[in-house]
Amino acid sequence: MKRILVIYTGGTIGMARLGTGGALVPVDFNQLYGLIPELKELKAEIHFQSWQTPLDSTQMTPDHWAKLATHIFENYPYYDGFVVLHGSDTMAFTASALSFMLQNLGKPVILTGSQLPVNIIRTDGKENLLTSIEIALLSDDLGRPLINEVCIYFEYKLYRGNRTYKHSSNSFKAYNSPNYPLLGEAGLELRIHTQYLLPKICDPIDIYPKYDSDILNISLFPGINFKWIHQAIENAPQLKALILLTYGSGNAPIDTELKAMLKVLRDRNIPVINISQCKSGSVVMGKYEVSQWLLDYNVISGFDMTREAAITKAMCTLPYVQGVDSFKEMFQKPISGELTLK
Ligand code: ASP
Repeated sequence: MKRILVIYTGGTIGMARLGTGGALVPVDFNQLYGLIPELKELKAEIHFQSWQTPLDSTQMTPDHWAKLATHIFENYPYYDGFVVLHGSDTMAFTASALSFMLQNLGKPVILTGSQLPVNIIRTDGKENLLTSIEIALLSDDLGRPLINEVCIYFEYKLYRGNRTYKHSSNSFKAYNSPNYPLLGEAGLELRIHTQYLLPKICDPIDIYPKYDSDILNISLFPGINFKWIHQAIENAPQLKALILLTYGSGNAPIDTELKAMLKVLRDRNIPVINISQCKSGSVVMGKYEVSQWLLDYNVISGFDMTREAAITKAMCTLPYVQGVDSFKEMFQKPISGELTLK
């Protein structure tokens, strides 16, 4: 019998209206288990664990990602797959971080949650949880786990976790993955699009739990006052990387203050990463004059990575590199299918 470990970290799926003014707060997972009797019908040994203090995912920090990655790593030999119940707000960040912290995965790590608590009659939580477990149980022809990567399952769709972002706070279909196809769909039957899965890896699982969150993410808008940001950066000696959310295919205004700021960052050997505000498509530096000039300041293309993947990858890369060149080399190398190299 296959063994699956379900880890409840918090999120709407297990929340109830107990807070001030009827606000939703995470509740004990044992109550949740009682609400899904179908769990007992799955043909597998399913073990449930709950964080002592379940969190609204808004409260998640990189420390929680590292704790979760370490917990999965330590339990890896004993289970065939892992299902993580998580709040939907920052699930795409956690999925991305796990995909960088846990490398050479040979087993599935499926994150899921819900838009409605599981004790509400129209909840999406039951289906999301039950199908996530079913997906984690799938095997290939040789009896190996079919999926060996970090995924998000939500509303009948299976996504590569580090390609997703939360696009809706009021629809059951909360996630999108515009730059990578769906990994699977649940209808009358479970259909996994195996051609899009990460290939099987022979190397043993590896863990990289270190991170450095001394980074900044700035989203451009017409009229942005680069003077303030420049001043803030001058006053942040501990800054280790900057992610610029640019327009279109990676464009930024040719602005004297932005130039001065990028020069300071270049002189301080701080990597600057170019990620587009567009959810679909890739950064192509040099396509327009307004991105060409960024190359003079050694700005690094983040290609078609999501903001979530770029932020977590920058954090997870910094402790393992020395200097901008080695940062760039590691940052632009696909680790777990998070970017497409043309
Ligand atoms: N605020 C909740 C959370 O992210 C929302 C959800 O779970 O859907 O934990």
